[in-house]
Amino acid sequence: MRLETLAVHAGSRIDPATGAVAPPLYLSTTFERAADGSYPRGYIYTRHSNPNREALEEAVAALEGGAAAMAFASGSAAVFAILQALAPGAHVVAPKELYHGLARLFREIATAWGLSFSFVDMTDPSAVALAIRPETRLIWVETPSNPMLRITDISRIAALAHQAGARCICDNTMATPILQRPLTLGADGVVHSATKYLGGHSDAMGGVVVLKEEDHFARRLREIQITGGAILSPFESWLILRGLRTLPYRMRVHSENAMRVASFLAQHPAVETVHYPGLPTHPGHVVAARQMDLFGGLVSFQVRGGREAAFRVAGQVRLFIRATSFGGPESLIEHRASVEGPGTATPDNLLRLAIGLEHPDDLIEDLDQALRAAVSDIRAP
Ligand code: PLP
Repeated sequence: MRLETLAVHAGSRIDPATGAVAPPLYLSTTFERAADGSYPRGYIYTRHSNPNREALEEAVAALEGGAAAMAFASGSAAVFAILQALAPGAHVVAPKELYHGLARLFREIATAWGLSFSFVDMTDPSAVALAIRPETRLIWVETPSNPMLRITDISRIAALAHQAGARCICDNTMATPILQRPLTLGADGVVHSATKYLGGHSDAMGGVVVLKEEDHFARRLREIQITGGAILSPFESWLILRGLRTLPYRMRVHSENAMRVASFLAQHPAVETVHYPGLPTHPGHVVAARQMDLFGGLVSFQVRGGREAAFRVAGQVRLFIRATSFGGPESLIEHRASVEGPGTATPDNLLRLAIGLEHPDDLIEDLDQALRAAVSDIRAP
C-alpha cells in the first residue's frame, strides 16, 4: 500500500461495540480479568498496553516499514530509552550537530550511566569511520539536523555501523517517513519526536521508536518502555494518530512552502546564508535529493548584521509566531542560539523558521516586511 493510504488506515479498527469509525479513547488504566484468571481481551494495565498506544505504534511502524514500535512520553524519553537499552561501557558515535536537547542528554546524563560518546561531523563518513572503536554499539544519525539542516548519508553510515557490529539509529523527526524512510536505506531503527510533524497540531507531546527487527534489542526496549514507565498516554496517542492521518498532505505543503521561502531568502540582500537542503547550493543537496522525496518544512537563515539584526527581524514579524518547536500548521520563527544557551555552535545571527501550512505568499510578504523594517532600523541610528 502507498504511504497516503497507510497513513489513513494503519492502526485503525472499527470499534466492535459500537461500529465507531473514529477510534474511541480508552482512558481506563485497568482492564477486567476473567473468572479463570486470564485476560481474554489482552489488556491488563495501561502502562503495559493500551488500545490507543498500540494503534499508534502499529501505524508508525507501518509507515516506517518496521517490525516493532514503542511510543514514549516525548521524543527525548524515546531517545533515553534507546540509550538505556545499551549496556554500560558501550560507545556511541553521535553527530557534532544535533538537536541541542539530545546533545545535553548524551553529554550530561547518559555519560553518568557508563556510556561514552564521540561527537563527529556525521556528514563526513571518513570522520565517522575514524571514531569507531571496538566497543561502539550505536551510531546516531539526525538528518536533516536541527537547526543547521545538515544532511547525513544514511546508507553509508549504516554500512559503517554494520561493519563494526553496531546499530545505526536515525532521528527522522524532521523528514518523517513521508519524505525519508531510513529503514529502507539500511538503518536499524528510527526515532521521532512525535510532538512535531506526526502529531502536527502543536498540541500533543510524544516520541516513537521503530525498529526494523523484532529482535533482542526490541524486546529490551519494550521492557524499558513498560517497566521504566515513560509511556505515551492514551489521549496523546489518540491525538498523534489523528495527526498521522493527514501527514502525507501536510508534509507536501510544508515542503513546498519551505522551498518557496528558502528561494526568496536566498536572493534577499539582508540575508547572508540560507540553510535548506532543497536549494542546489546546499552542501548536502545531492545526498538529500537521493534519500528524501521532498526537503521538509524547516529553513534556517543567517541575517546580515549579526545577533542584533537577527533579533530585529524576529521582532518585526506579524504572521510568524516567535516560538520554539515545529510541525504544527502555524509558521514559527526562533533565534536558536539564545534558546540553546552558552556554548552552542549555532551562529548568533541565525533564525530558524518552522514553515507552516499558510499560503506561501503571505509568509514571504511577512518576512520581506520584517527584513526591510529590520534593515532600516539598523540604518536609522
Ligand atoms: N529530535 C529532534 C530532531 C528534535 O527537534 C526534538 C525536539 O525538538 C527532539 C528529538 C526531542 O523531542 P521532544 O521535545 O518531544 O522530547
